[in-house]
Amino acid sequence: MGLEMIVQISKKVSTIALLAAGLFGLAACGNDGASSSSPAVKDAAKVVEAVAADIETPVITVYSSRKEHLIKPLFDRYTQKTGVEVRYITDKAGPLMERLKAEGESTPADIFMTVDAGNLWQASQKGLFAVVDSKSLNESVPQHLRAANNEWFGLSVRARTIVYSTERVKPEQLSSYEQLADSSWKGRLCLRTSKKVYNQSLVATMINTLGEEKTESLVRGWVDNLATEPFSNDTKAMEAVAAGQCDATVVNTYYFGRLMKKQPEIALALFWPNQDGRGVHVNISGAGITKHAKQPKAALALLEWLASAEAQGQFAEVNQEYPVNAAVTPSAEVQAWGDFKADVVNVESAGSLQATAVKLMDRADYR
Ligand code: FE
Repeated sequence: MGLEMIVQISKKVSTIALLAAGLFGLAACGNDGASSSSPAVKDAAKVVEAVAADIETPVITVYSSRKEHLIKPLFDRYTQKTGVEVRYITDKAGPLMERLKAEGESTPADIFMTVDAGNLWQASQKGLFAVVDSKSLNESVPQHLRAANNEWFGLSVRARTIVYSTERVKPEQLSSYEQLADSSWKGRLCLRTSKKVYNQSLVATMINTLGEEKTESLVRGWVDNLATEPFSNDTKAMEAVAAGQCDATVVNTYYFGRLMKKQPEIALALFWPNQDGRGVHVNISGAGITKHAKQPKAALALLEWLASAEAQGQFAEVNQEYPVNAAVTPSAEVQAWGDFKADVVNVESAGSLQATAVKLMDRADYR
């Protein structure tokens, strides 16, 4: 029995004990000298049972690779609203998936939440999710931002776009991800490592649209244009652009937002590529109900709420992301980055073509 189960049960028992003490006390006062088998005591016991069943609210457990400060405010709001307690464990996606796999049926996790469709697809492949039939989720989450098998659903959208030096690049000199492979960008490009799922997903969706051959020659072009070795994260790549080491890079929008908050004067700007074609590569953070969820109904209610108009504004805003729910507008600071056309290729292709993308990037010497 897991720790969570013990805590849940002891919580229920202590509530019953308290109620029983109160009701039996009342019964004893009203029936002086009544034995334990008296009708009044039996009635009281029945009331206790009924009340206990009624007040027993489920406790939901979430395994999340989204950081605590991004999920806690939403979970707290949900608990305030419903009385349902939400527990969570945060870690990187890989270790959480390993943990879910290892725990099997005994897992306390009801929901697995992570970033990138590539990771969600992996979790689905490992058999960690249950199929969910929810009209509400299907209405809140556009079809291209959820799994076709109904196992996971996007909860926020992030765009992976171009960031350039406003000192050395004019926006007219930019047009598409493909154009960053042109020789005019020789020695001017910075990229994050290909080991990161974000770049694997970007390349996977390019393979989906452009085919493997064309994508490979583009990735080779990027590698030829690199000013320096790939960086371990998006922020370092942007800082290299700002420092003059290179002139442009490709990052997730919220990292740009974070850097701009810290250094509003930094000479960087966002550019929305491929606006005459397929649009900007977007990805999601998302979640699904675990295969061995102990509280699948309560967990589904939480997921539906997170995707609803009521929660979506905050869910997206805490990480400067875009809501998945079209009924909700992005925060003012995100809207200030301007409108763009997004690639509506199903994000699932980020997963199904992930292995192909990894091999392709390896052949192209993208490290
Ligand atoms: Fe990230």
